[in-house]
Amino acid sequence: MKYDFIIVGQGIAGSMLAWFLWKQNQRFLVIDEWNPNSSSNIAAGIINPVTGRKLVKTWRIDEVLPFALQTYTELEKFLNTSFFTQQDLYKIFTSDDDEQIWKNRKNDTEYQNYLGKIVELQDEPEIISTHKVGIIKNACRVLLPVFIKAFRQFLESNEKIINEKFEFDELKMNEQFYYKNYSAKHIIFCEGYQAINNPLFPNLPFTLAKGEQLLVEIPKLNTSKIINRNIYLIPENKNRYFVGATYLWNDMSVDVTQEGRNELTDKLKKMLRCDFKIIEERAAIRPTTKDRRPFIAQHSKYSNAYIFNGMGTKGASLSPFFAHFLVDAILNKKPLLKETDLNRFT
Ligand SMILES: Cc1cc2nc3c(=O)[nH]c(=O)nc-3n(C[C@H](O)[C@H](O)[C@H](O)COP(=O)(O)OP(=O)(O)OC[C@H]3O[C@@H](n4cnc5c(N)ncnc54)[C@H](O)[C@@H]3O)c2cc1C
Repeated sequence: MKYDFIIVGQGIAGSMLAWFLWKQNQRFLVIDEWNPNSSSNIAAGIINPVTGRKLVKTWRIDEVLPFALQTYTELEKFLNTSFFTQQDLYKIFTSDDDEQIWKNRKNDTEYQNYLGKIVELQDEPEIISTHKVGIIKNACRVLLPVFIKAFRQFLESNEKIINEKFEFDELKMNEQFYYKNYSAKHIIFCEGYQAINNPLFPNLPFTLAKGEQLLVEIPKLNTSKIINRNIYLIPENKNRYFVGATYLWNDMSVDVTQEGRNELTDKLKKMLRCDFKIIEERAAIRPTTKDRRPFIAQHSKYSNAYIFNGMGTKGASLSPFFAHFLVDAILNKKPLLKETDLNRFT
């Protein structure tokens, strides 16, 4: 079978590439070994335009956010599945300093779309808030596992995906790429952290971060707000909430750890007046990079081989915009960005 593109990996990165290739009537095949513990299948899917204590704007968020909104809304219709909501985030300050940082940032016109009112969290008696709360506007939530599953069904019903491990020994490169019975003009690798095993793109400058998350039951809490106080508390369904996430830099297994559980439960206890019960624990490896920018690059020798990876903690927001960017660059022979090139560290 002949294709224009082979995509390796169907996390959020590979899915978005496939979507924009489909829209451009390209012939493509996705090769993905289904993994319930992939980063995309574990992620909370929050799109937060300003992150960290210093409230730093996400890279290129003014372009990335409206594009993500448009793409997910279109995909919800196309797949006839709900997985996207626009939602404010409630950030509980932990000191007077936090409130001051917010006020200073809010004076900056660059931040006015994202930093809303400062309020008291009076309507949530079970949540401990010793300080006030800042409302982050224009945030979103993408139920990534729901999207990944629905998109996979669409690919399956159009015979555009095969569920298997991509074996590099089977890849032959010439003018075209030959893999088993398939050939393609281009190949794009989107394997998430498993790209550490990709011999075509060796020594990728990742600093991988394992993340753990809990699903908890909180019988006395009934809120639809996404609340952040060092960790996120995210409503899932009746009385059930996701709590996350941790950052562990030296552990590349997807096993949950006592350390992760303790960190999350300690932080949750500081947020809640009431009891909770752990229902489930999950872990995955985020494809985080040294400078928090993705890898969107061409192979140095095989110019039709690409990598689309390194979405880090922001796969939900960055993937739509940059997948569209890469597809447009390849089809219309436009240059890629220096900021996302693999040579940027040399
Ligand atoms: C606990 C946690 C919480 C997170 N919360 C958020 C959040 O709130 N918002 C946000 O934007 N991001 C969040 N993230 C980060 C987000 O998950 C990632 O940015 C994103 O999912 C990366 O997607 P990806 O497609 O690059 O990789 P992945 O999701 O890892 O997908 C890679 C795919 O490639 C397949 N694959 C790999 N190698 C091969 C091979 N050789 N052959 C065949 N298939 C292969 C894998 O099976 C997998 O399906 C979170 C991550 C974690 C761990």
